[in-house]
Amino acid sequence: MVADSVLVVGGGIVGLATALGLARRGRPVTVVERAPGPDTTSHDHGYNWPVLPGLAGLGVLDDAVSAGTVVTEWRCTVLATGERIRFDYGVLADVVPHAFCLNLPHDRMARLLVDRLERHSGAEVLWGTEVTGLEQDGAGVTVSVRGPDGDAPLRAAWVVGADGARSVVRRGLGLGLAGTTWAERLVAADVRLDLAALGHTPRHYVLDQDGGAITSLFDAPDGWRVVMAENRGLPVEGAQERLVAGLTRVLPDAGPLPVGPVGGSRIHERAVERMRAGRVLLAGDAAHLTNPTAGLGMTAGLLDAFSLAEALSEVAEGGRSDDALDDYSGTRLHAFWDDVVPPSSEAKSLVFPSTVEGARLDAALGVLREASADPLVQREFLLRLGGAPASPVSA
Ligand SMILES: Cc1cc2nc3c(=O)[nH]c(=O)nc-3n(C[C@H](O)[C@H](O)[C@H](O)COP(=O)(O)OP(=O)(O)OC[C@H]3O[C@@H](n4cnc5c(N)ncnc54)[C@H](O)[C@@H]3O)c2cc1C
Repeated sequence: MVADSVLVVGGGIVGLATALGLARRGRPVTVVERAPGPDTTSHDHGYNWPVLPGLAGLGVLDDAVSAGTVVTEWRCTVLATGERIRFDYGVLADVVPHAFCLNLPHDRMARLLVDRLERHSGAEVLWGTEVTGLEQDGAGVTVSVRGPDGDAPLRAAWVVGADGARSVVRRGLGLGLAGTTWAERLVAADVRLDLAALGHTPRHYVLDQDGGAITSLFDAPDGWRVVMAENRGLPVEGAQERLVAGLTRVLPDAGPLPVGPVGGSRIHERAVERMRAGRVLLAGDAAHLTNPTAGLGMTAGLLDAFSLAEALSEVAEGGRSDDALDDYSGTRLHAFWDDVVPPSSEAKSLVFPSTVEGARLDAALGVLREASADPLVQREFLLRLGGAPASPVSA
């Protein structure tokens, strides 16, 4: 075992960002990823303004901006009336360093992070290698793996579990996810369409009492991801037909809808009670799950990654006691329940209101109209929807 080495389980965006943050601080780090390479299937792609300073700190923001779609505006269309309610991220210019959001396909962001990571001699990614269990003692953690190089265990001083919602690391620690699960599942697919011609901005909500939709441009000029919700009691079979029928309702002017393969996912507001157990830390979906309507799952996970890389490096260097890792756990869990769950839940009830009474959508539209009309109210609204307190504008 290399002294103070870190093994990151999971090469999703959170795991790769944690590893890059550690490598840039000179830590030896190995990422162990079950898949043979970055996930090219359709996935999350929305990066909110709170994560942009951290991506800049990792040295990937400029390339991400060049490769992706800059989102300067978020717009809602009210289906029943055609009304447009508009929010301009520019109102944040005085209070955050990067007053925009970014859409970038998962695999492109993953490749940017891997490319940077591989420039560090002490960093490596073991693709196609699955972690099956772990055991820790006072000096380190032994991780069982299955991969192309066999199943010899790996050992590191610290392990980060960034292995997603079904985390083997979390289960190995005996930690559960407490909270609630929504009555709906989300169904999502990619479509090739000119939704911009219909007035859709790269981040767009269609709002309707009978259930709306999110449309977001992930691959300009015509690659859009569409997300709707349905009762999770419905059989998975038929989800594609139901999604097409739903889209035909919410996008009545779109014409034929060439919908790609449909993915469904249950949605939760759940978290572990602690993100540290001895020499093992959790980050991202392995530690907490929020419904993705406001795009805050990745925001929360990346903010974990940035603060964990800093705390773990300082502890490993001996600059701070390992209380810093308990602070990481406490701070990030508070942030999840206080800053992430409330706006995510409100956004879910706004776009997918099937579980609330009729009056609620009208009330919510009133709030949106008021926020849209006044730049100062709009700023507070967008700050709250960002899922994190504003970080200072650098001088
Ligand atoms: C429909 C939908 C849309 C979404 N859109 C957005 C969005 O636009 N913006 C946003 O912020 N969030 C969004 N989210 C949420 C977002 O997808 C997650 O919060 C985010 O992917 C979490 O990243 P992660 O790296 O923690 O986990 P994951 O992306 O799940 O990565 C975990 C990695 O660990 C690997 N792994 C798992 N087990 C093992 C093992 N035993 N050994 C080795 N490797 C392992 C997996 O292969 C995977 O690569 C969306 C979610 C859904 C369902």
